[in-house]
Amino acid sequence: MRVRKMSALVGAALILGCCLILYLMMDLAVFPSDIHDNKWVQFEGRLKQLEVDLHRHHETVGKLKHTIKQLISNSPAPYDYQQHSNHTVVTTSATTPEAGADVSCSIQFKSVPRADIQMLDVYKELKFDNIDGGAWKQGWNVEISGQEWDKHNKLKVFVVPHSHNDPGWIKTFEDYYHSQTRNILNNMVNKLSEDPRRKFIWAEISFFSLWWDEIPIETKEQVKKLVSDGQLEIVTGGWVMNDEANTHYFSMLLQMMEGHQWLLSQLEFKPRNSWSIDPFGQSPTMAYLLKRMGLENLLIQRVHYSVKKYLAHNKNLEFRWRQLWDGNGSTDLFTHMMPFYSYDIPHTCGPDPKICCQFDFRRLPGFGISCPWKVPPQVIKEQNVAHRAGMLLEQYRKKAQLYRTNVILAPLGDDFRYDHASEWDAQYNNYQKIFDYWNSKPHLYVEAQFGTLNDYFNAVREERKPERFPSLSGDFFTYADRDDHYWSGYYTSRPFYKRMDRVLLTYIRATELLFSLGWSTKQSSSDWLLAPESGLTKLLSDARRSLSLFQHHDAITGTAKDHVVEDYAKKMLEAINGMQHVMQQAAHFLLSSPRVPYQPNSEFVYFDLDDIRKHHYSIPEKTVVFVGEGLESQRIVLYNSLTWRRQELVTLRVSTPNVKVTNTAGTAVTSQISPVFQELSDVIADSRYDITFMADVPPLGLTTYFLHAVRPAQKIENVMSRIKLLNFVGYVPRVEGFEYIEVADEAKEFSIHNDHLSVAFSEQGLLKAVTLKDSGVTVPLHLDFARYQARQGQERSGAYLFLPDREAETVAWDSSPVRILEGPLFSQVHMHLPGVQHTVTLVNTEGADSLGLQVQNVVDISDQVNCELTMRISSSIKNGDDFYTDLNGLQIIRRKRFSKLPLQANYYPLPTMAFIQDQKFRFTIVTAQPLGVGSLKEGQIEVMQDRRLNQDDNRGLGQGVTDNKPLPATFRLILEQRQPSCQGTATDHPAGLSTIAAHVASLSLLHPLFHLLWLGKTSDNLESHYAPVTQEPGCDIHVVMLHTFPLQSKNAAGLIVHRQETDPCFPLEQFPLSNGLLNVSSLVPTQFGNTMKEATLSFLEEGKTVQKNTARPVCHMEMSAFLFPR
Ligand SMILES: [Zn+2]
Repeated sequence: MRVRKMSALVGAALILGCCLILYLMMDLAVFPSDIHDNKWVQFEGRLKQLEVDLHRHHETVGKLKHTIKQLISNSPAPYDYQQHSNHTVVTTSATTPEAGADVSCSIQFKSVPRADIQMLDVYKELKFDNIDGGAWKQGWNVEISGQEWDKHNKLKVFVVPHSHNDPGWIKTFEDYYHSQTRNILNNMVNKLSEDPRRKFIWAEISFFSLWWDEIPIETKEQVKKLVSDGQLEIVTGGWVMNDEANTHYFSMLLQMMEGHQWLLSQLEFKPRNSWSIDPFGQSPTMAYLLKRMGLENLLIQRVHYSVKKYLAHNKNLEFRWRQLWDGNGSTDLFTHMMPFYSYDIPHTCGPDPKICCQFDFRRLPGFGISCPWKVPPQVIKEQNVAHRAGMLLEQYRKKAQLYRTNVILAPLGDDFRYDHASEWDAQYNNYQKIFDYWNSKPHLYVEAQFGTLNDYFNAVREERKPERFPSLSGDFFTYADRDDHYWSGYYTSRPFYKRMDRVLLTYIRATELLFSLGWSTKQSSSDWLLAPESGLTKLLSDARRSLSLFQHHDAITGTAKDHVVEDYAKKMLEAINGMQHVMQQAAHFLLSSPRVPYQPNSEFVYFDLDDIRKHHYSIPEKTVVFVGEGLESQRIVLYNSLTWRRQELVTLRVSTPNVKVTNTAGTAVTSQISPVFQELSDVIADSRYDITFMADVPPLGLTTYFLHAVRPAQKIENVMSRIKLLNFVGYVPRVEGFEYIEVADEAKEFSIHNDHLSVAFSEQGLLKAVTLKDSGVTVPLHLDFARYQARQGQERSGAYLFLPDREAETVAWDSSPVRILEGPLFSQVHMHLPGVQHTVTLVNTEGADSLGLQVQNVVDISDQVNCELTMRISSSIKNGDDFYTDLNGLQIIRRKRFSKLPLQANYYPLPTMAFIQDQKFRFTIVTAQPLGVGSLKEGQIEVMQDRRLNQDDNRGLGQGVTDNKPLPATFRLILEQRQPSCQGTATDHPAGLSTIAAHVASLSLLHPLFHLLWLGKTSDNLESHYAPVTQEPGCDIHVVMLHTFPLQSKNAAGLIVHRQETDPCFPLEQFPLSNGLLNVSSLVPTQFGNTMKEATLSFLEEGKTVQKNTARPVCHMEMSAFLFPR
């Protein structure tokens, strides 16, 4: 041992020495006496490399030092895991990061990272047999001997009172507030102040801030005191308790930031513990974000009952939740999983709900609710306290058997509880009597008290360090609460609003970016942007809050009442309109001449956003741009919110085919003109045309194009789309420019092409096969639509549950016409079948829009009864039972199709992408809206498009889902060939990696180019370009957010960047990756100053000050946050 310590020390010293010598040598060697420009470039390059090397050496030395310290000190005993577990798979792979990786990063894909419990392995092992466990129906008969506790080993009970407040579900957010939540919070202040032993926790800042705005200053002071005294704890501190299946990580981050910044500014409080009791399945993305926000503990609840039983059996309900890719545990978050069926009182005190229900004193006779087990609670009195306390203690002791410590968490609450003062008295007084009884009887070996979540976690950590709990990697989807009731319906319910969520997301992100750039770019004249009078920051803040509200687990999930859904949608529409206003203001500001003082007019509309939503339930429409006599040309500004130069197609709707597009140099740009077909018909609209041209827009920048009217006879370089109608009988109207349309009355197979792909279609007009032109390989890809029917009986599909009666049946129909448009920039196939308008577009550019096939479905199943419509793609890919889906757009997780599980259990959330692969090919489907996905047969992926269910599914909503609205659901289908014998991730790795193409296509789909149509004169004095990025960082580095804080909180802007790891087996030349280094000042302009501060992800904690203009290493899969003080 001594020798090893010594050699480690010597090794460390040697490496340090080498670094120093290397640095000095390089320093002398590269510094020339006569410096020319190009040498400077070389010098800078080498210096950068040196910085990277030094950073690595520094980290290596740091690691070594750490290892030596561990060797020398009497480190705590390693996790004594195997003593407790007979079942769990313990992997033995190396814990060090893979060779070549930056050692400061925890990423590990070439080998399987160590985790004591891996959820996919657990799924392989579990029988899912659902045996009746007696009182604890989904568990077993927990027994105690009574010898478990003694005076050294007391049971510590923390009863944690809480009230679960949904920001919208049966009632709207505001209705709940006025009718219930306001009373809860008012009572909270009074009732906690009465007795310092009383505790309470609160989660939803949306409600809390609404209440805060209307309470007097004295009450605010009282609340602050309750918080600082530890009687009231704010848990999680998010705007809402977000859904974890459909949500995108941007919005999860945003809604947490919104709550955290509110807490910081109003209460000077930083949450430490997270409380997630109601989201319908739980995602490790949430754990990652919380960890990087600085939170220390997490509680989760809705997990499959079989998984709970399995973990409880091995005392593994508390664990360190680790990310799938994490090779060194740097992402571990200590997590407590609740063991039983629900978070209500009957299911939180112990395994027997019939007993526990008797300790919900809100169910005392006369309070309006009772116990379903038909034994009511009793008021605690001197005569019965010994007996009643004995009953409860037995439950607590049994519950303690499922965990590793002697500390017990007993949540005491339910939905919208504690709204009457009498309930506070009933719960707190009766429990206090029981506590007093226990605490006065030392031989019972129990200490009980009211507690916060923080009290509980502190006591657990005091007894046992987190390192001594198992690590767990994976997720908790798909949730089942009982029997075969899998909650996979909500992945798709109300897809119209799920799409709206993504639209608002991209508007907020892009607008804040442009606004913040504007604010930073022209310091002296940009103050008005932030001034309250301009109203712009209010619009931004309102929009953030509307999107935050929609992340609630009954909002984006599509599980609220119809009128509540409409309320969310109205708020989102208002937010979209608000963002359009701010975006066009910021664009105008950035494009106005720096030589003239800016004349702000924050009400003025300079640009139209070419994306009109008339109602909160209507499909977006394009603006028709009029050019012609009297209006010879129009100015169009394009905005790219991504960090790479976009060369993609832009389509504008114009009033005439006699039009051309020029760039800022005045050069005509190749354009393709197409007719516009009227909805649901092959009738061509009059005076409506689409002009499509290839745009070239700088990263995070703006550029200008012009539309010009031309005389019909004038020769221009436009190409008119060639139109074919197959299987068409009837009259074909002709319009100007499209006098010739090829018509065939027969159905026949056909194909369309671009430079990379040849795509074959069936007689019906559905995708059949794709040929990769580079290799000449053809892969069958059959697309069809299929329908599920709801199972008969009492338990039927609804907003939450997917309970199909059998496999889906292919939609059959009498033949319908197929329309084909062809041209040099794109080709398009349009067809319709019952309930679906289906369009496939093949783009011919070098941009992200040409990666794969674009598919758009406008689904309308409003005439159906109990119908769920899915789009299936069947291929020859031999993926076995493996497939991959993403989690919140942040990471990819491996799934397996299990025949031991029902069909609905094999459905998973699809927030952004899913893929199947074999040794040769990968097929990815990228989506613009969250939906449900499954791979129910080898070679197949299916994505649920919409669902209409005519009944409630008994989860409290009290209605079906029948408010279906057609939406343009958009996808990309990407087929790629793997580099020969290349493997991006270890064979058994529980994570997957997206290809560069899928990553880029997903970002491009989610963040389209914005079209700003200038409403002034074309001759108006306006700069044509704004290009802030001086060096593209590489397409793996993404600016997640550039947010300007309101002046009253921080006079600063916050930047969050993310670096995605992609699969190395599918390289893509035109989208180069970063070298792992990011120079922030080359990405966003430096007017914020030369320094910035490191920060946690929600900007609760600020770290050290660093230089902006140095190349900083960014870890794969990680997000970094920086604060730019003004
Ligand atoms: Zn809820």
